[in-house]
Amino acid sequence: MSLINLKDIQRVFQVGDELVHALQDVDLTIEAGEYLSLMGPSGSGKSTLLNVLGLLDRPTAGLYELDGRDTTTLSDIEQAEIRGSKIGFVFQFFQLVPRLTAFENVELPLMLAGISVAERRTRVSAILEKTGLAERMNHRPDQLSGGQRQRVAIARATINEPELILADEPTGNLDSTSGSEVVAILEQLNTGGMALIVVTHDMDIGRRARRRLKMIDGCIAEDLREARS
Ligand code: ADP
Ligand code: MG
Repeated sequence: MSLINLKDIQRVFQVGDELVHALQDVDLTIEAGEYLSLMGPSGSGKSTLLNVLGLLDRPTAGLYELDGRDTTTLSDIEQAEIRGSKIGFVFQFFQLVPRLTAFENVELPLMLAGISVAERRTRVSAILEKTGLAERMNHRPDQLSGGQRQRVAIARATINEPELILADEPTGNLDSTSGSEVVAILEQLNTGGMALIVVTHDMDIGRRARRRLKMIDGCIAEDLREARS
């Protein structure tokens, strides 16, 4: 059984009198633990596809099976439960809670999952250590650099050990050094077994993935796999 199975996915937005076909006839199968990059011109549907995969948006038509289960017929609450346990989403602009410290931002998903204070402390400290943020754990986002903020966001997205990490231009707002650090952490998580999909405009980052998708006008125009050496 594949991790993800998309069949004939359509996403149509109505903008005034016009229909925008953001996703057209998307068929895609992704196995557990795969590493994909997703490239393509601005407006080609990359974020729409990631949002559908992340259950942040519903397709207009088509089938989306995650772990063998059709997600399209689930209620919003059921989708939120799956999102919380199986999917980690990383955004270009971090989306941290500004008034919470790094520690508290990362702790949030564990609080929502009803994990005890003691276990939260252990797990959050461990992941902040692993992402090189131990000394910054009591800082708020505005006291952190962009790269540090994104590392907090990755820690938050993966503290529940999801099966799937979706990263929408995670380095788009970072200098190249911080960008490389962020990519390295994402790749480490992939090596640990999490499937990883990275949307990027950066060819060097896109080429790192073993499987490379290219979108054009809402369609997957290319799906290349590197022969394993
Ligand atoms: P990309 O991430 O590749 O730049 P998007 O997925 O954001 O592309 O957008 C694909 C197309 O769908 C674009 O034409 C965009 O304007 C349109 N679109 C995306 N989201 C919405 C929305 N919420 N409402 C209307 N149109 C949208
Ligand atoms: Mg986008």
